[in-house]
Amino acid sequence: GTYVASEDRYETTEYRRSGDSGLHLPRLSLGLWQNFGADRDQENQRRILRRAFDLGVFHFDLANNYGPPPGAAEENLGRALAEDFAPYRDELVITTKAGWVMGPGPHQRGGSRKYLLSSLDRSLARMGLDHVDVFYSHRPDPDTPLEETMGALHHAVVSGRALYAGISSYGPAATREAARIMRELGTPLTVHQPSYSMLNRWVEGGLLEAAADEGMGVVAFSPLAQGVLTPRYLGGEVPPDSRAGVGRPSWRDNMLSEEVLERARALDAIASERGQTLAQMAISWVLRDQGPRTVTTALIGASSVEQLEQNLAALDSPGFSDEELRRIDEWAVD
Ligand code: NDP
Repeated sequence: GTYVASEDRYETTEYRRSGDSGLHLPRLSLGLWQNFGADRDQENQRRILRRAFDLGVFHFDLANNYGPPPGAAEENLGRALAEDFAPYRDELVITTKAGWVMGPGPHQRGGSRKYLLSSLDRSLARMGLDHVDVFYSHRPDPDTPLEETMGALHHAVVSGRALYAGISSYGPAATREAARIMRELGTPLTVHQPSYSMLNRWVEGGLLEAAADEGMGVVAFSPLAQGVLTPRYLGGEVPPDSRAGVGRPSWRDNMLSEEVLERARALDAIASERGQTLAQMAISWVLRDQGPRTVTTALIGASSVEQLEQNLAALDSPGFSDEELRRIDEWAVD
């Protein structure tokens, strides 16, 4: 039937400003990397997107290459936008990116102006949109001058194809340099999207600080370590419909080694004491108060409505005591 969004959608999930900008993001955001390709049930995708928006998750994150095949997630989101979300377009924050491999040849990968701007036009066509809310450089490209990549982001914004610009997976020094270039161009960078989880702390080595100093919000991707920090694998079995079971290229077998499972089980025990599932604690942890370095939003994936609902409940959880943080580090950090 016709979709009508829940009236209390802004009362259920907190949101906050992305850095110094006027762009607001819900504390939990939904990414369409893995579960929105041509190989996944369309009705299930639609149920997840509708439920997300009803619960205040108004940010959907995409990239040109999300699928499989590359482009399929944007096409599927385009269908959902046309069928369900057309009246809500101005409430949604829809983001896309270019940088990883989209096709053959030198201009379907990297950070050239040629790749970024042509790819953005294709993304808009697949989604049936005239603009995205944020356009990202998906990864640093050492073979393209940073000025060229940032110039392409700036042009995407001034030409009206994107409202804000962002970068993903840039290290601290490149982030500061990119921010300087963009400020001079007149299009400040609004967001940084790095990976971050209890098991993956690289952003604590200066990146969170750089983003805070530059007035950028932080969108933390894969806070559940692609499912490792959830109840999914704790029993030692690999469910056939899981990301590990399906054997996605992004999944490496050592992600479920005995050592990793032992850590996950110990963290799960701490989560139980807090009255949370492991997935919920992983999200609460990424979003914990770190002063000016606090993460803006945790960007999760979900293959079912139930996962999404379980994860959203993490937003109501208590903060962490110093003792809990110390015990988590004992298991999560090498
Ligand atoms: P997560 O770490 O949140 O992993 C999501 C997966 O965890 C789900 O697909 C599901 O696995 C499992 N899961 C989630 N909730 C539960 C639960 N409650 N119980 C059991 N299992 C659960 O994030 P992703 O790795 O999916 O990344 C999230 C988003 O981040 C992407 O969609 C994308 O938008 C962005 N991203 C950006 C990158 C970049 O380079 N900028 C790179 C990677 C991601 P299953 O499918 O097996 O059920």
